[in-house]
Amino acid sequence: GRNAGLTHTAEQESQLRALFYALPPAESSFRTLEEVPDYVEKSIPFFITFIGLEFAVSWIRKRKLPGRINDGISSLSLGILSRLPDMHFYACVNTKCSQTSLEILCFAEVNILWAAHQVHHSSEDYNLFTALRQSVLQKYTSWMFNLPMALFIPPSVFAVHLQFNLLYQFWIHTEVITKLGPLEWILNTPSHHRVHHGRNPYCIDKNYGGTLIIWDRIFGTFEAEDAKVVYGLTHPVNSFDPIMLQLRPLAHIWNTFWATPGFCNKLSVIFKGPGWGPGKPRLGLPEEIPVITGKEVPFNPYVPAYLNCYALVHFAVIVDLYTELLASMTVSNSFLYEITSPANSNDAQHVSILKDWAVALQPTHVLFEL
Ligand SMILES: [Zn+2]
Ligand SMILES: [Zn+2]
Repeated sequence: GRNAGLTHTAEQESQLRALFYALPPAESSFRTLEEVPDYVEKSIPFFITFIGLEFAVSWIRKRKLPGRINDGISSLSLGILSRLPDMHFYACVNTKCSQTSLEILCFAEVNILWAAHQVHHSSEDYNLFTALRQSVLQKYTSWMFNLPMALFIPPSVFAVHLQFNLLYQFWIHTEVITKLGPLEWILNTPSHHRVHHGRNPYCIDKNYGGTLIIWDRIFGTFEAEDAKVVYGLTHPVNSFDPIMLQLRPLAHIWNTFWATPGFCNKLSVIFKGPGWGPGKPRLGLPEEIPVITGKEVPFNPYVPAYLNCYALVHFAVIVDLYTELLASMTVSNSFLYEITSPANSNDAQHVSILKDWAVALQPTHVLFEL
């Protein structure tokens, strides 16, 4: 009926505003954690719409696509994988909280935390797919930053703002928006966040803000966009495999840990910056950051067109599979619970879930391991 149609539009409008952190407390206050909606899940149709828009604008303006199939599928696979422990956390941990600038700063300046956060930086493209490229492991390291806040702020409020903070950062991952005038003073904008994703020496350890840029301006980590930003890690992983992208940096820390002499030095390998080494300052030496010539070529191994098509179709099937998997998880409450407690699930189902995930990772293999 007519009324149903109206409520539907109102709901969509408020979902759209949630994407821009524009839901006032009256619309986003809940008594208990269980009442807090999954805003991220509800935003998926908007993610798809905006990605479509980004493609259209980029094509109309520059006659080029905003990204590549291989990098895009890799980003989306990581986005999907990162939602799994999320569900686990919803079920098992009662407090969630807002990701602050402090948190992101620590993620970039403490090696072991960077090993998790670097996943988000591993894309050499900068587009709305990159926004969805999230680490599986980061959830397991962010809880310590949340603990002090848990003393003052109710879990249901944390759970809302954690999601708004994440959602806000979706739209800023694009090159189609250039500068936004006076908004650049207060908000974290596409321009500011492009600098955060850059591997040019002037971009390193800059613009940590999530929603607001004022914190970086106050604490001296702000840098305005200047020379053309080259995206990605200073030492690229050169892979599209969502598992490799998570694990290779950890393996690097493990190897450096054992290769570095002395107990204190070993601790420093873990807790100082990724660029640190014995005798160097905490964040490493700026002159060791590779120089950017502007001629850097992103990792892009040749794959015949038919395999690209195959990977796309396979990926589309998997997204469908993933939706089913999510539905089955709400029943058991936790994917991890399911795979770690065989007694509680029937073995056949168990094996089938693991097989599903093996299939899920296949398209990214096709793209570069021929
Ligand atoms: Zn980002
Ligand atoms: Zn970052």
